Amino acid sequence: MEIPIVLEKRSKPHLKTEITFIIVHLLPLAALFTGATWFDWVMCAFFYFFRMFWITGGYHRYFAHKSYKTSRWFQFIIAFMAETSAQKGALWWAAHHRHHHRHSDTPADPHSMKLYGFWYSHVGWIVGPDYKETDFKTIGDYAKYPELVWLNKHYLVPPTVLALAVMALGGIVDGGSITMMFSKVGFSALFIGFFLSTVITYHGTFSINSIMHKVGNQRYKTGDESKNSVWLALLTLGEGWHNNHHYYEVASRQGFFWWEIDITWYILKIFSWFGLIWDLKGVPDHIKYSKDKAHANELRQKFATESTPVDALD
Ligand SMILES: [Zn+2]
Ligand SMILES: [Zn+2]
Repeated sequence: MEIPIVLEKRSKPHLKTEITFIIVHLLPLAALFTGATWFDWVMCAFFYFFRMFWITGGYHRYFAHKSYKTSRWFQFIIAFMAETSAQKGALWWAAHHRHHHRHSDTPADPHSMKLYGFWYSHVGWIVGPDYKETDFKTIGDYAKYPELVWLNKHYLVPPTVLALAVMALGGIVDGGSITMMFSKVGFSALFIGFFLSTVITYHGTFSINSIMHKVGNQRYKTGDESKNSVWLALLTLGEGWHNNHHYYEVASRQGFFWWEIDITWYILKIFSWFGLIWDLKGVPDHIKYSKDKAHANELRQKFATESTPVDALD
């Protein structure tokens, strides 16, 4: 007899606490009054990819999964850059993500689309009151750094710095002087270059929690609903290889084969050439070519006794 799944009770959001989240979504519409320049749109696209990289390469592959090592000062830079996305603090983000892997698609998963539905897994868990706090125990390995705890608490500092920088750039490029940042050109840069870009980055990131557990193919049996999708991988700089990632989460690459485009991985590789990061964890062959964990064990023993380079199988 199958045991019925008992879902956790998840609270509904309160309009009062989520008003800023709604305003962030509405602010790009203010560009209807200011107009927008081509430079605003370039900044919108640039700061989408810029912040997506720091989320995937920083929040996700560094803070949540420790898939590479770095120095204390660069670790701070990673956290600061990723926090410009206005997705709360690095410790908050990574702790919740660790819970997601521990309980993937079970009732304790903070955002299981299978159990709690599309909207809850996409945005409901973020706007609801249940996951507002940082679970410092789960992220104790990074919570020992006071500068990260400070940044986690003051998570609005980095996005504010970026918003002002975007306004200044708008003032300089479209108005001819930084003093123009508080005029129409500065505000149109803010609405499109910062706020619209922020909203798109939100939904790019959220889509990994929601549709990447529904849409695409499953190469590996992971016991959850994680999938691989080339389209999501392109849009999210590599995060679309989500089934690969759930199968072997410690790797700093999520595209396991050369044809699985993973732009975050390429950038991390470049960082490593400059000595900014090191010890990037790869994907062992017995993992890459297996179907599930039992098969991976079999392959590990087989490959250990063979001398054939398995990469030739690519
Ligand atoms: Zn992960
Ligand atoms: Zn997942």
